[in-house]
Amino acid sequence: MNGVSTPALEIRDLVKRYPTGTEALRGVGLRIEDGEFFGLLGPNGAGKSTLIHCTTGLAMPTSGSIEVFGHDAVDHYEEARLAVGLAPQELNLDWFLTLEESLDYHAGYFGMPKRERRERTAELLDAFSLSSKKDDRTRTLSGGMKRRLILARALMHRPRLLILDEPTAGVDVELRLELWQYVQRINAEGTTILLTTHYLEEAEQLCDRIAFIGDGQIVAEGTSTELAAAYGVTSLEDAYLELVGRKELSRAKIADVADVAS
Ligand code: ADP
Repeated sequence: MNGVSTPALEIRDLVKRYPTGTEALRGVGLRIEDGEFFGLLGPNGAGKSTLIHCTTGLAMPTSGSIEVFGHDAVDHYEEARLAVGLAPQELNLDWFLTLEESLDYHAGYFGMPKRERRERTAELLDAFSLSSKKDDRTRTLSGGMKRRLILARALMHRPRLLILDEPTAGVDVELRLELWQYVQRINAEGTTILLTTHYLEEAEQLCDRIAFIGDGQIVAEGTSTELAAAYGVTSLEDAYLELVGRKELSRAKIADVADVAS
């Protein structure tokens, strides 16, 4: 990463005002380098989903610009969209399709030729330990399998930027660790990753850099160590508590209170 190559994602002065009048993004600037594992953290309502939706064409920016590997997300929507794989938070599978059909149709939508689709489907079903279920309907899968299928689907068209929107919300420990392994491997193989999560430990373990978003603006950015230093604290969790104005919840403080009480 030398900062000279085309960034995976470059957002400049992005504003998104919904017809309701809510200004969900208020001048966001963000640059994610090719190959980075980047975390976007912030409380509910901060604007994370809106940022993802603007990047993937699900929402139209009010002003500002978004480029995915140099392709403008609005003016060159197709090129930009082809470069992105999105694993959304909600399990938005078609419950009447089989696993194989789910992956195949998705890749068809992205213009992948039939033979390549077939090969890629088999490869990803295998990678995510779903091959034995390939003819089952998605509605019959366990929650963990649905999560894995969503990730496989996001990867079908070999996106250079993978957006993971709270991929481990509500999943058990084993699956969380398994998903971490998958995404770390994908990142090591060259895919840039943008992760949103409410698990600070997850961001700390996986992300090269992290941005805090609050009230529609990026308020801090850096490695977890840099973020802690910027807030004058010693952990990412404490920095986050400063961001959301809840520093009284700091574990260090809770431990002090417990000491006094005992
Ligand atoms: P996050 O993903 O960080 O929880 P969102 O991007 O979902 O935040 O929301 C940011 C703000 O925009 C919130 O105030 C939310 O209520 C508002 N918002 C999100 N989607 C819409 C929408 N479709 N119409 C109107 N307001 C919205």
